[in-house]
Amino acid sequence: MYDWLIVGAGFAGSVLAERLASQRNERILLIDRRNHIGGNAYDHYNEDGLLIHQYGPHIFHTNSKQIFDYLSRFTEWRFYEHRVLAEVDGTLVPIPINLDTVNKLYGLKLTSEELQEWFSQRAERVPEIKTSEDVVVSAVGRELYEKFFRGYTRKQWGLDPSELDKSVTSRVPTRTNQDDRYFGDEFQFMPKHGYTSMFKRMLDHPNIHIMTQTDYDDVKNIIPHRRIIYTGPIDEYFGFRFGKLPYRSLRFRHVTLDQPWHQPVAVVNYPQTNDYTRITEYKYLTGQVHARTALTYEYPSAQGDPYYPIPKAENQELFKKYERLALTTPDVWFVGRLATYRYYNMDQIVGQALATFRRINETLPAETDT
Ligand code: FAD
Ligand code: UDP
Repeated sequence: MYDWLIVGAGFAGSVLAERLASQRNERILLIDRRNHIGGNAYDHYNEDGLLIHQYGPHIFHTNSKQIFDYLSRFTEWRFYEHRVLAEVDGTLVPIPINLDTVNKLYGLKLTSEELQEWFSQRAERVPEIKTSEDVVVSAVGRELYEKFFRGYTRKQWGLDPSELDKSVTSRVPTRTNQDDRYFGDEFQFMPKHGYTSMFKRMLDHPNIHIMTQTDYDDVKNIIPHRRIIYTGPIDEYFGFRFGKLPYRSLRFRHVTLDQPWHQPVAVVNYPQTNDYTRITEYKYLTGQVHARTALTYEYPSAQGDPYYPIPKAENQELFKKYERLALTTPDVWFVGRLATYRYYNMDQIVGQALATFRRINETLPAETDT
C-alpha cells in the first residue's frame, strides 16, 4: 500500500514526492506517462553528445531565496543570465525593448530620459489595462507593439493579443536603460549538470518508487494507495465533464549543425517572419564546449501535448468549475501548471508544491511523527 500515488514527475510531482518521502517518511509511487522524469523541464544528451531540452528552452530564474535554496540541495548551479534578440525589419535587436532596441531600429541616439519622452509621445491612453494588447500599446505605442508583439502572439497563441489576458505580454517588461537581460530576477542560474540530473537527486530516496510510461488511468484501480497528488490536466482527470480546457501546444524541431555556433545569443525570436516563434541554441545555456551546436525551433500548434494554459476570462471560468469539483474530491490534491491551469514558471511551481506540502502537514498530521 502506497501512502501517495503521485501522477506526473515534473516539478510539482517531484518536489512533493521528495518532501513527503523525506519529511513524513511516507511511501510514494511516482508515475509519468512519458518515458522519463522531469516533466517539461526534461533534458538529455542527443546523439552528438549535446545537452538539449526536449520540450524547449528552460531557464531558471526566481526572486525567492527559499525556492532557490530548496533546489540547491539537489544541484550545483551555473551562473547564466538569459539574453534574447528579436529579428525585426531584418535586424536583430534586444527584446525586452530597451534603449538599444529603439536606437538601433530607428537609427537614433536617444538617452534614457529622451526615450521615456519618446515612449510617452507614442503610448496610447488605455483607461483600464485588460488585454495583452493594452499592456504594450499603453507602454510603447502601436508601432512597436505591431513589430514585436502582435505577430509573435498571434503565432504563439493562435489569438490576437486583444483576446488574451494582460498577464501574457506583461511577462515581458519595457526598459529605458540598456539592460538586455530577459529576466530581472535576483537568482538566475542553470542547473550545472542539467535538469534531469537535478530531478534524479531529488527523487533518490528509498521511499520513492518511480514508474515511467505509466498512465494514471491504467493503474488507478490496480495499485493500492491512500491518497493522490495529480499534476496532469485537471479537465482530463474529471473526464472532460464540463468540456475541454484549451491548452496551447508546440511542435519542437531539434537540429544539430556541424559548426560550433549558429546565432549570437541563446534565443532569437521571430515576431514578423517564419512559422516558428523562436530558435534556441543550447550551448549558451549549458556552457558546453563542443564542435557542433544543437538548436530547437518551436512551432505553435492547437493539437498535441498541452504545454500552455491559455489565459483568457472564459477559460478561467471553465477552470473554476473544475476547481470547485476538485475541492469536493477527497484525498486528491491538484498541483502544477496543468492541474491548476496557471501559466506558471518553474520556480512558481516549486513554490506552489512547497505550499501544498505545508497545507498537507496542516491537514494531515504525519502518522510516523506521532
Ligand atoms: P509538467 O512539467 O508538465 O509535468 C506534468 C507531468 O505529468 C508530465 O510529465 C506529464 O507527462 C505527466 N502526466 C500528465 N497526465 C498524466 C497521466 N494521466 N498519467 C501519467 N502522467 C501524466 N519555466 C521557467 O521557469 N523558465 C523557462 O524558461 C520556461 N520555459 C518553458 C518553455 C516551454 C516551451 C514550456 C512549455 C514551458 C516553459 N516553462 C519555463 C514552464 C515550465 O515548463 C513549467 O512551469 C513546469 O515544468 C511545470 O511543472 P509541472 O510539474 O506543473 O508540469
Ligand atoms: N511575446 C511577444 N514577442 C516576443 C516575446 C514575447 O509577443 O518577442 C509575448 C507572447 O505573447 C509570448 C508572451 O509575450 O507568449 C510571453 O513571452 P515569454 O517569452 O515569457 O513566453 P514563454 O517563454 O513562456 O513561451
